[in-house]
Amino acid sequence: MGATTTDVKEGLKEYFGFDKFKGEQEKIVQSLLSGHDTFVIMPTGGGKSLCYQLPALMMEGVAIIISPLIALMKNQVDLIRNYSESDDIAHFLNSSLTKTEKNRVIKDIRSGRTKMLYVAPETLTKQETVDLFMEIKVSFVAVDEAHCISEWGHDFRPEYRRIREIVEAINQEFPIIALTATATPKVQSDIAKTLQLRDPNIFVSSFNRSNLYYEIRPKKSGQHAIKNILQYIKTKPGKSGIIYVTNRKTADDVAKMLKVNGIKAVSYHAGIDTKIRSKIQDQFLMEDADVIVATIAFGMGIDKPDIRFIIHYDIPKSLENYYQETGRAGRDGMEGECITYFSYKDILKLEKLLRDKTVAERERGLQLINETVAYAESAECRRKFVLHYFGEEYDASRCNAMCDNCRHPKEKVEVTQDTLLAVESIRLLKENHDLPYLIKFLTGKKSKEIADFGYDQMEQFGKGAEHDEQYWNSVIRNAMMIGLIDKDIEKYGTLKLNEKTRNFVAKPFTIEVALNHNFDDESGDGMVEEAAEARASADPALFNILKDLCRKEGKTHNLPPYVIFQETSLEDMATKYPITMEELTHITGVSKGKADRYGKKFVEVIKTYVEENDIDRPEDFVLKSIANKSGEKIKIIQAIDKKISLDDLAKSINISFADLIKELETIVHSGTKLNLDYYLNDKVDEDLMVDIYEYYRTTESDSIEEAFQEFKGDDIEIEDLKLIHIKFLSEMGN
Ligand SMILES: [Zn+2]
Repeated sequence: MGATTTDVKEGLKEYFGFDKFKGEQEKIVQSLLSGHDTFVIMPTGGGKSLCYQLPALMMEGVAIIISPLIALMKNQVDLIRNYSESDDIAHFLNSSLTKTEKNRVIKDIRSGRTKMLYVAPETLTKQETVDLFMEIKVSFVAVDEAHCISEWGHDFRPEYRRIREIVEAINQEFPIIALTATATPKVQSDIAKTLQLRDPNIFVSSFNRSNLYYEIRPKKSGQHAIKNILQYIKTKPGKSGIIYVTNRKTADDVAKMLKVNGIKAVSYHAGIDTKIRSKIQDQFLMEDADVIVATIAFGMGIDKPDIRFIIHYDIPKSLENYYQETGRAGRDGMEGECITYFSYKDILKLEKLLRDKTVAERERGLQLINETVAYAESAECRRKFVLHYFGEEYDASRCNAMCDNCRHPKEKVEVTQDTLLAVESIRLLKENHDLPYLIKFLTGKKSKEIADFGYDQMEQFGKGAEHDEQYWNSVIRNAMMIGLIDKDIEKYGTLKLNEKTRNFVAKPFTIEVALNHNFDDESGDGMVEEAAEARASADPALFNILKDLCRKEGKTHNLPPYVIFQETSLEDMATKYPITMEELTHITGVSKGKADRYGKKFVEVIKTYVEENDIDRPEDFVLKSIANKSGEKIKIIQAIDKKISLDDLAKSINISFADLIKELETIVHSGTKLNLDYYLNDKVDEDLMVDIYEYYRTTESDSIEEAFQEFKGDDIEIEDLKLIHIKFLSEMGN
């Protein structure tokens, strides 16, 4: 069916009340109306849904719209119904419907009144759904969020892979339209291939969001980032923002810290009951809450146009995620600031999450993480980098100082000769290796892989050794960005040369780059702090309990404790909280045999701990009480591990010093050791300490009042006597 310009314009006015199309909407609508397969890549906010909604209303039959977002379906359907006199016009089919509701939907579809049917991929692949579609006239199939088809996209859905098969099964002649708001060239080709689009008309809109400002900041520690965020938000009173974090506990902790500091913040994640979640969304929309602290799972359903800042407290695991999430800022075209905290430690954590994946998944995951690191480290225009990632060329001079690197440019160095050297080396390596390999070759780092090919015998091996890895990363990444080097993602990120390279080699032009940021230098972090923090990701209270149990078991079996379980295993247990023998075998270093031999008591202890402290286990989707006492205790233990002054600690968690002492007592009584020496040694004279300690050791009574009577002539405060008693209990009792 063809349609004239007048037809579609009239349609637009009639159904949606608009006089004009946005961007390429009209061409897209025409493409679909004339029966062509159509592929639309358009950033969020560009008016994507109208591209299939208008044709659906104009064409004969029902349009099937596949969408992964059950939460959004209802919303979409409600919006369309608003434009129409009758509710029959649009429906959705997914697992949230009751039997009666479902029957009503099917009846309306059969009657021909329904023009649009939203379907969840899980529902689509059911035989009864296919049977229904075979009975009716289908106008076209729209695949929304089409990037879900690709394992390289940021939200892979295996059921999406089956769409083509279902389309075949319906066995009718109709076009397919695929739509997405984020797709790298790789994801684009996956979509076209998997859906088997027939000579599609492709519409790519620019991904540039000129009103967004991008910045990366070093993250010295969680505490440091929170402080920094607080200062930032204080400069934006009453403005809306989202803070993205990777896990639920962090979401709760950060929201709590903000609240304590007078900011209207709420946390939002999958562990929160659906009803409460929609209440939180409303609070945010109605501006009763200014800041939402959310895990990455959040936000699909929120469309608030005036979000002024997006903060990534944790680095996202891919640039797709980054772009998608930062894209929520400034939808109204007004200011939007996107600030990301970066630390190498967070990258290690992301890499660790890939440990249990298949080799292929791990490979993909690592490549995506590497791109994120490269983006953060780059000292070139952020906009240019991210747009290049989505296959778009961008002239950095248009950025208008809307990124940190353009606002505070680093001095550039000339790298023409070194770019030539890199290109020459890729040729010598037969265009068969990836970026890390090339850098090893250039800097002369011997490895087995290099020796196997005899590359270390070449004259050029190590020719760039006067520069470090960071330098070469900057040079090669820049060459990629200006199109002199290609990266073949299909082949594990192998570096390739092209026509442009050959022209450059024949007639070199001057190339300058700003050398990459080094976040280790910029944050001034020492390795000591890094290590201490890495350990802190495990629950320290549980870790200590398990360690004690290990010692006890060691004695029983007359073995050193590490023979029972190594510390790395205990740390993993204190992170994953295994409560069955089966789960225990998934812990690092725990074989089935070892679990059977020593595991039973450990599992029991963990189970009790989880129940008593109301722990939200990693795979557990149970509601966690917001005012979690154990969370406070963990914070105290962590702070003392980090030797934070007790006065500061009391202030930061908003309790009195006396209450803090009470907390310390309970912690020690429950079997956790606390080392308060760093605090006491500063406050109490060494000789006096020995006397008091001896007094506690030899006195039956545990009354601090009595101790105070004994020592009050010695210039000591009762709080310190209490703390020394805690130290005594901790050292002797635990
Ligand atoms: Zn820029």
